[in-house]
Amino acid sequence: MSLHGTYDPQNIFALIIKGDAPCFKLYEDDDVLAFLDLFPQSYGHTLVVPKRAAARNMLDIDPDNLCKMMLAVQKLTRVLVDELQPEGVQVAQFNGAPAGQTVFHIHMHIVPRYAGQGLGMHAANKADVAELEKLQARLVARIRG
Ligand code: 5GP
Repeated sequence: MSLHGTYDPQNIFALIIKGDAPCFKLYEDDDVLAFLDLFPQSYGHTLVVPKRAAARNMLDIDPDNLCKMMLAVQKLTRVLVDELQPEGVQVAQFNGAPAGQTVFHIHMHIVPRYAGQGLGMHAANKADVAELEKLQARLVARIRG
């Protein structure tokens, strides 16, 4: 059921895009926003969202916003790999609650994967804010070059 439905403009990512809720922002332009996941599956777990698409998932996003989101995903994936040097990196996107979606504004997950760590789908614990701030500063510095 959650695969189909009406876009809720009060969802948490819509609020973050509008500046009505906080985030640890890594990158923003006219079309996309990238920020750290508050419940990270790994060190560096990043989310990329389109700013101008009222889309819940892959089924209802328009091609232009999809392309812009994916270009940003590639850019951020390169930054995360260069800076954090993980052994792998997972790029994922979920559609509908049975597939693991919990926030219904389309987003891409970039999850650095480190050898010897498990592949959890969703983390139960909120990240330490001081740690997120340090990581944000490190990644923003890398993005700005
Ligand atoms: P989904 O399950 O919909 O694919 O992913 C939603 C993601 O958003 C999860 O990884 C979850 O940890 C993250 N998340 C939920 N609420 C917030 C929030 O308020 N801020 C941030 N930065 N991430 C959030």
